[in-house]
Amino acid sequence: MTRIDEHGYYGRFGGAFVPEMLFRNIEELRRVYTDWIAEPAFQKEFQALLKDYVGRPTPLYFAERLSEKYKSQIFLKREDLNHTGAHKINNTIGQILVAQRVGKTRIIAETGAGQHGVATATVCALKGIKCIVYMGEVDIERQAPNVARMRMLGAEVRPAKSGSKTLKDATNEAIRDWIQNPEDTHYIIGSVVGPHPFPDMVARFQSVISEEMQKQLLDKIGREHPDRIIACVGGGSNAAGAFYHFLNNESVKLTAVEAAGEGVESGKSAATSILGRDGIIHGSRTLLMQTKDGQIIEPHSISAGLDYPGIGPLHAHLIDSGRAEAIPITDKEALEAGFELSRLEGIIPALESAHALAALNKLALEKEEVVVVNLSGRGDKDLATYIRHMGE
Ligand SMILES: *Cc1c(COP(=O)(O)O)cnc(C)c1O
Repeated sequence: MTRIDEHGYYGRFGGAFVPEMLFRNIEELRRVYTDWIAEPAFQKEFQALLKDYVGRPTPLYFAERLSEKYKSQIFLKREDLNHTGAHKINNTIGQILVAQRVGKTRIIAETGAGQHGVATATVCALKGIKCIVYMGEVDIERQAPNVARMRMLGAEVRPAKSGSKTLKDATNEAIRDWIQNPEDTHYIIGSVVGPHPFPDMVARFQSVISEEMQKQLLDKIGREHPDRIIACVGGGSNAAGAFYHFLNNESVKLTAVEAAGEGVESGKSAATSILGRDGIIHGSRTLLMQTKDGQIIEPHSISAGLDYPGIGPLHAHLIDSGRAEAIPITDKEALEAGFELSRLEGIIPALESAHALAALNKLALEKEEVVVVNLSGRGDKDLATYIRHMGE
């Protein structure tokens, strides 16, 4: 079973563990989301915005020099070419349309590196809806350009000052806000995490990635499926989108790449599927990095988008059941892969996407193997980090 069941579970992972105050909102969403997404008027508006505003379909690019180096056939799914520079906008477009249909007039979101915050502020500007983004105080300092972008787009950025003052704390603040404002507010969660129906809803919005892949592969290699798909996993939304239409096709190997920070056993890692145990975070049961007493362990990764102590319930299930293979990649390996793609193909990838690329080095690829790497975002936001490590 790789699809969600009627209670919102993938295997033993998922569910909706929410305070009573939010029950009505979650229940309302759960009742209507599948019908709405399927509704022709919704699809028409969603598809039109993906095409003319986001710039879809994104190309599926055959990377010739990269393929030569790894002795296989490597295609890059170019999510980096989307408006705002990553896959995140596929989801925020879908969710703003849902919010409008449930009659909400105020949007909240959480953000770590600021990418989801920017994607949310963007669609709120597009629709003229009030937008508040929660962001850890530490991240506000680290990610100044994205904070400026959100403000320019008209969003209010509110600092989360508790805990480590990063993504998990911003998520706590956003949930607190939603509890206080359930009537007029919709919470746009940025990945396939949170209480049901968010993981499934976000996966459906991102599934446009694998839907396009099928058509593009048919055109380029004469069959709809590759032999392998590689994607990085923070919460897991770009991976969910890239895997979605192939989940039940066992001839497609699924490779989920996690951030190993300074090394899986270094104490500074975000390799959740290896280090994590069953626990509940932000409304769902999943694999979670925690101490013996169930306290969350602070994650570490050079890429802010992968710096999360949990993993979406779909991926917890895919990895736990053996359907997907998890590969840990260190900060250093990701940086090297980022430099390599820049030099070989003239594409500077986001540090998150560089983790996916680094997995090419770890896999025994076969000569004719057709591999799609989901290039989740562009590297402009990471230039300062790349430059700091140049020539190492
Ligand atoms: C946010 C982000 C990710 C991680 O989020 P997922 O939900 O795991 O996809 C990966 N790549 C980029 C470019 C991002 O901005």
